[in-house]
Amino acid sequence: MKRNLARAAAAMRRWRTAHPDAKKLRSREYYAAHRAEIIGKAAEYARSHPDIVRMIRNNRRCREVGADGSLTSAAWLALVEEYEGRCAYCDMPARLVPDHGTPLARGGSNRVENIFPACPRCNNEKYTMTVDEYRGRRRAEGRHVRPLLER
Ligand SMILES: [Zn+2]
Repeated sequence: MKRNLARAAAAMRRWRTAHPDAKKLRSREYYAAHRAEIIGKAAEYARSHPDIVRMIRNNRRCREVGADGSLTSAAWLALVEEYEGRCAYCDMPARLVPDHGTPLARGGSNRVENIFPACPRCNNEKYTMTVDEYRGRRRAEGRHVRPLLER
C-alpha cells in the first residue's frame, strides 16, 4: 500500500465491487462502533463549511424533484460576491440562501442562471412566485425592489 497507493486503491475497489454485501456489512459495523465520532465530525464539518453543506443540501433537494443542473459552492460564492452579500430582492445584507428564480415547483432548474442569492425572509415570501412575479408584488406593495444585475 505504501509503495503503490494507486494499485492498492484499485485492489480495494475490485474487492468492494466483488463483495457488495460484505462491504455493506463492514460499513454498518464500522458505523455502529464509531457512531458518535462520525456524527460529531459531520457536525463539525457542517459548522466549519456552511456554504458547502448548503450546496450539498440544495443539490440533493433539486435531484429529488428531478431539477436539471447542479450548483457548486464556488459558483454560489461567486454569485454572493457579485451581489455584494446582499439579497437580490430587498437589497439587505443577510445570510443568503440560493433562491430558484423560476421555482423548482414550476419546472425551474438548479443551474446557476436560475439562482438568486436571497435573504431567508424574501426566499420564504417569494415561495412559488417567479422573480418577475415577486418583484411585481413588492413594487405593488410600495416596497424596495433591488434592480436586477446583468447576468
Ligand atoms: Zn431579501
